[in-house]
Amino acid sequence: MNDSTTTAPHPSPPHLPSAVFEELEIVRDPANLFHQTIEQILIAAELIGMRHHQKIIIAQPKNEIMVHFPVLMDDGHHALFKGYRVQHNNALGPYKGGIRFHPHVSLDDVKSLAVLMTMKCSLVKVPFGGGKGGVKCNPRELSSEELKRVTRRFCTAISNQIGPDYDIPAPDVGTNAQIMAWFADTYQLMSPEHSRQDTHRVVTGKPVEMGGSVGRDKATGQGLVDVLQEMLPELGIDIHKCKFTLIGFGNVGGWTGRLLTELGATLVGVLDHTGAIHNDRGIDAEALTEHVAQTGGVGGYDEAESISTDDFYGLHVDLLVPAALEQMITPKEAGLINAKVVAEGANAPTTPEGDAVLMQRGVEILPAILCNAGGVTVSYFEWVQNKSSTTWSAEKVDEELNRHMVLAARRVKVARVKYECDSRTASYCAALEQIKKVYELRGVFP
Ligand code: GLU
Repeated sequence: MNDSTTTAPHPSPPHLPSAVFEELEIVRDPANLFHQTIEQILIAAELIGMRHHQKIIIAQPKNEIMVHFPVLMDDGHHALFKGYRVQHNNALGPYKGGIRFHPHVSLDDVKSLAVLMTMKCSLVKVPFGGGKGGVKCNPRELSSEELKRVTRRFCTAISNQIGPDYDIPAPDVGTNAQIMAWFADTYQLMSPEHSRQDTHRVVTGKPVEMGGSVGRDKATGQGLVDVLQEMLPELGIDIHKCKFTLIGFGNVGGWTGRLLTELGATLVGVLDHTGAIHNDRGIDAEALTEHVAQTGGVGGYDEAESISTDDFYGLHVDLLVPAALEQMITPKEAGLINAKVVAEGANAPTTPEGDAVLMQRGVEILPAILCNAGGVTVSYFEWVQNKSSTTWSAEKVDEELNRHMVLAARRVKVARVKYECDSRTASYCAALEQIKKVYELRGVFP
């Protein structure tokens, strides 16, 4: 017996996620979103028979870029900002994923969101890998000019690490088409003169006038509705008559609310950072959009009553769509939820412990990498349109999006039966199958 075997207390059996954590010297922290995500993905990797070297490749991002950059503020002083771009995996194509502006952006969270992008792109079969970026800032506290300067300086700081065929950012929490316009313009100015022609393809989610795709703005909400249309009937829910609630009323929540109510569903409650509102007769999603545009949140909307967060979670509905930030549904919220189905519009809105409580209580969870993949799918359409100098009609975008989402939903259903697991694990299994195949075909260089 040598020293290392006597000192290593109990090495984990090689098939367990903990064995990969030990090998990579990751000290598992149950509250860490990246560790949680990797653990769930490694369980799926084991189910589909991924080889050990493939597991250790996907358990860490390829590149983690961290930058600090000064920005001139309106009052004349310079503030230093911290930004990240994490490139998780590019086995299936260029790194792809949004850029988030939020005060709580951290490296591990960005790493986790980058892994989820790898999974999402593979599941909907768009030829991209996964990446994510972020700047630690509060966009609500920045003026438009400050926001523009933060965007331009961040783009400059990472411009050598991204590219239209290498790593393609997009909007995420706290960013939008205007920010993508500034980003594309800055990148173009940073590019050598001979290669400036096609460079606005470096970001998607641009304004339509600047090469954006019609339908990109509503794409995540539309993709979620497409998934629901495929999944709800077999759960005994009629989408045209269902009652639903939303967490978050930003891009994803707002569009989901409007699109579902257009189909006849009733929005009975919304929770966001400004409060929770309830109206059992139905909330007009269009009017609420106006209110949010004017006031910044759903709080104070006078066509509904204000309720407590706990009462919001307890509302009796067919469907709850979390469409805000990560890790909002912990065991506490999961214990209160009174919905038949939770369809995850946000990335990773449910903690593993929250997940377990929902499952125990028989709530069906439709996983994030399926439900919110519509955004990146239409981003791919935008990139294709830019690359081929064409524009698609709204009908074509809707039709192609629907096809991608329905096929992805069916892949999850097939994987659920094949691997006898829950939908979240099945979504990872279906995504990993393709990545595994590519690593088998190409091997690992040299
Ligand atoms: N930020 C979105 C997401 O999390 C979209 C990413 C993209 O379009 O590249 O899926």
